[in-house]
Amino acid sequence: MQTYRNTVDGLLSEPVSSYEIFNPANGQSLGFAPQSDEQEVERAVQAAMRAQKNWANQSDQERRDITLKIAQILEENSDYLAELITREQGKPLSGPGSRFEMQACVGWTQVPASLELPPETVYEDDERKDTLHRVPLGVVAAIAPWNWPLMIAIWQIIPAIRMGNTVVLKPSEYTPIATLEMVKLINDVLPAGVLNTVTGDGIIGSKLTHHPDISKIMFTGSESTGRQIIEASAKSLSPITLELGGNDAAIVMPGTNIKNIATDLFWGAFLNMGQTCACIKRLYVHEDDYETVMAELSAIASQMKIGDGMDESVLIGPLQNKMQLGKVQELVTDAKGAGCDIREFGEVPDQGYFMPITLVGNIKDGQRLVDEEQFGPALPIIRYSEVEDAIKSANRLEAGLGASLWTDEQAQASELATRLEAGTVWINQHGAIHPMVPFGGNKASGYGVEFGIEGLKAVTQGRVISIKK
Ligand code: NAD
Repeated sequence: MQTYRNTVDGLLSEPVSSYEIFNPANGQSLGFAPQSDEQEVERAVQAAMRAQKNWANQSDQERRDITLKIAQILEENSDYLAELITREQGKPLSGPGSRFEMQACVGWTQVPASLELPPETVYEDDERKDTLHRVPLGVVAAIAPWNWPLMIAIWQIIPAIRMGNTVVLKPSEYTPIATLEMVKLINDVLPAGVLNTVTGDGIIGSKLTHHPDISKIMFTGSESTGRQIIEASAKSLSPITLELGGNDAAIVMPGTNIKNIATDLFWGAFLNMGQTCACIKRLYVHEDDYETVMAELSAIASQMKIGDGMDESVLIGPLQNKMQLGKVQELVTDAKGAGCDIREFGEVPDQGYFMPITLVGNIKDGQRLVDEEQFGPALPIIRYSEVEDAIKSANRLEAGLGASLWTDEQAQASELATRLEAGTVWINQHGAIHPMVPFGGNKASGYGVEFGIEGLKAVTQGRVISIKK
């Protein structure tokens, strides 16, 4: 069995210890992931420190060219990496699965390569001229989750290196393998030390984020870990981008043609088996449309094949890990106990962390499946009678990542959209992120944004050059 390796200072690092990684669809071993120790974290940060000045001194054009070469490497290796994602993370190759994740990796690399942050004259009169320059921060610690392991790592790595920073990335302990392989491949076109990895759980993550030489932390993960990241940043005064959990509400406006939107609603909720930060996690439906929505979603769910995502006909895979499966099952059991209408779809294989696609009706605000982020394939569908009540429900939780309105009357929705407390409010789509459009949470879903020009700014610091005329 292969032991995968970290890349530190441009070289594959000999692991001091390792642990086995298993396929969530069938329990088969995928090989061993390295387990970093404190010394490896130190070596990675020092390598990134050493590389940073030269990297920042390269011309913008050189960094842009290298970023485009990275996009090419991702494209050329997308079949290999997509298969690894499927075996390790569980999302199917087909549909909005691991090939889709690889396409996103390519897009989210090409777009930052195409963007520029030239110096900006912020003030000028007869006596002075003030120009704002965007300069790199230094070494970025990137901490990634297990749900979209490569795509989210790319969101963190690419803007950082594009702007002249160097990176130490820690993938999730659940999904390190595909990420390590991706980083190894990318390192072919990067100077040594620009992109390094360390592996392990929160203890290693914490060593990295507490390191005094870290100049920026990019974190995507849960709210509770996000709070620990904030504490860690106090030591180095590092700015942070925090992309935390969500509990996105979708509101279907009264009288909307449900047939037209049912497929998008379904994938809005069940993308990656619901293990997506900006998935629909609560669906609010007018009481007159409730039965139609239930029927349409049931019809779609009943056509889905659940299984090992290496099978091209499978669109719904397993959950990524046992803990997550247990958590979602517990929330469904709680709803069952409260007398909710539980409708389960799909034939679930005997082995692996599978569960049926689960629609949960006759459920209300305040119940656990509504109030807690399920991060799995169980969707609560809540009836409302007044739109104002649905808006209040959508806003009542602390999470504020995304929200959506579904309607045949877009003008009315545009006005209502401004009242939803979320980083992004989508109309007639959900989770429709784009590499040019800033993405980030409101309220307890985090702060700072990624993507587009704003995302590039977030991995720089401002330096004003002020000239007396
Ligand atoms: P998690 O917080 O458990 O882990 C995320 C990463 O943090 C892992 O690499 C983990 O090892 C590391 N970590 C844990 N403790 C740490 C510490 N004290 N210091 C430093 N690093 C530490 O999250 P998860 O379970 O991997 O991911 C699921 C969560 O992520 C969900 O809540 C989901 O909504 C959220 N998420 C948010 C976005 C977004 O863009 N807003 C995207 C994807 C996932």
